Amino acid sequence: MIEKVLPGIFRIELPLPDLSLQSVNAYLLKGKERNLIIDSGIDKQECRKALIDALRELDANLEKTDFFITHLHEDHFGLAPELASNSSTIYINAPEAAFWGVHDRWAEGFRHGEKNGFPREELDKFIRKTPDFLKILPLEEMKNAVEVYRGKSSSREGRLQIVGDGESINVGEYSLKCLATPGHSSGHLCLYEPGKKLLFSGDHILETITPAIFLWPGEENRNPLNEFFESLEKVNALEVELVLPGHRRTFQEHRGRVSELKNHHFHREHEIAAVLESNVKSGKTAYEIASGVSWHIPLPWEEFTTELKWMALAETLAHLKYMQDQKKVTSKLLKDKNGEKEYYFLLTES
Ligand SMILES: [Zn+2]
Repeated sequence: MIEKVLPGIFRIELPLPDLSLQSVNAYLLKGKERNLIIDSGIDKQECRKALIDALRELDANLEKTDFFITHLHEDHFGLAPELASNSSTIYINAPEAAFWGVHDRWAEGFRHGEKNGFPREELDKFIRKTPDFLKILPLEEMKNAVEVYRGKSSSREGRLQIVGDGESINVGEYSLKCLATPGHSSGHLCLYEPGKKLLFSGDHILETITPAIFLWPGEENRNPLNEFFESLEKVNALEVELVLPGHRRTFQEHRGRVSELKNHHFHREHEIAAVLESNVKSGKTAYEIASGVSWHIPLPWEEFTTELKWMALAETLAHLKYMQDQKKVTSKLLKDKNGEKEYYFLLTES
């Protein structure tokens, strides 16, 4: 589905087969010399076909097209390495390129899962199967791009280029400013067009979907929910006439949406506190807490796929980290017959 949003800006809605998200947006900005595609869909045939057909219909020459990726999740980055020509630049952010540039990243997950109470057999099956997404990431190129960005290497190999907060990309009549908006992911970038008051928001704010905020293995020093709240304030302060999000339709009134998103997270915090309140003495693992709060998934917890449980755990951990930093929750490593696990306790004022 192609929608002409503004002169030279097209929203291309791409199918996400087998995912509950259903669709993702790529945007094509047509310029005189070069075009820009913002986010590139997932590496799956149905999506690939839809994007290639749309680009053909819009007469976009890939030799003259660059890519901007709001964040390195598979539904946004998936097709960029394949569709970018040798003369294309793919703009990505540094924190995520550096994160995924570590080769055995996935393997860290096992210890992390066990420590947080994820059932061992389920975890074993899951972690053994490296997700397809990791296979398409150009790890060496990502490492090189980060080194070039940090001044540790001067020879750029490949098509990746790191961009950061405040840098601009010009396409046709539009001047797009990168806006670091970590939260949904560690290096998430929005693009803001101050003249026309446009915000390409990636997955930072969406109209009808609540962006998930995760804490992943290897990210223990982050406080993603706090980052997210700060990034919400950042876009709240902007004058925006139209939000062009990573999923679903474009929308206005971004400030109303920002406050809804904050409320959503406060509601979840209350739920987590309620689970912990009924287990003041024994505490709970993050996995047990995740199974006790409500998710926007029309299935009982027992019927969640392992992947959904893994994501719910990562979201719960993001909340626990936030609550810990706010001194509302504390945690202890405790031994049981299966090894050491981290248990969370509510701190009550007494
Ligand atoms: Zn997304």
